[in-house]
Amino acid sequence: MDLRIGIGTDVHRLVEGRPMRIAGLDWPEETSGPEGHSDGDVVLHAVCDALLSAAGLGDLGSNFGSSDPEWAGADSNDLLAETLRRVGDAGWSVGNVAVQLIGNRPRLGARRADAEAALADRHGLTVSISATTTDGLGLTGRGEGLAAVATALVTRPGHLG
Ligand SMILES: [Zn+2]
Repeated sequence: MDLRIGIGTDVHRLVEGRPMRIAGLDWPEETSGPEGHSDGDVVLHAVCDALLSAAGLGDLGSNFGSSDPEWAGADSNDLLAETLRRVGDAGWSVGNVAVQLIGNRPRLGARRADAEAALADRHGLTVSISATTTDGLGLTGRGEGLAAVATALVTRPGHLG
């Protein structure tokens, strides 16, 4: 069995009046949301980035460029579905994904299991989601943006190397 890990990160600026969609869920009580070419879901973008990294397929930017009109305003679940298709086409099966949201809001804890279940149902993905803050420091601590970091494990038949 050939095993590969990958890493992905994403950051988006938070803007007043933008809808907050994070980890594939809508957060209607939030008054600001991520700016971006797509819906700006940093959690799903970091997951895509880690999957592409693990499969040796580049990164989110090289696969879904921000100048590509096809992905303007895209639902990040569609980006994830296309990412999984590309990873699968390269012969890889996904083992699991871990992703951590870095920011003050939204408060992911109460809905963490819902987000994980939604990704399992929709994409057949085994993903564990966690969250942390930066003690008021930096762009996430000041509420200027959200960040996420992910790792992914992919496998395919064969030998390491
Ligand atoms: Zn992004």
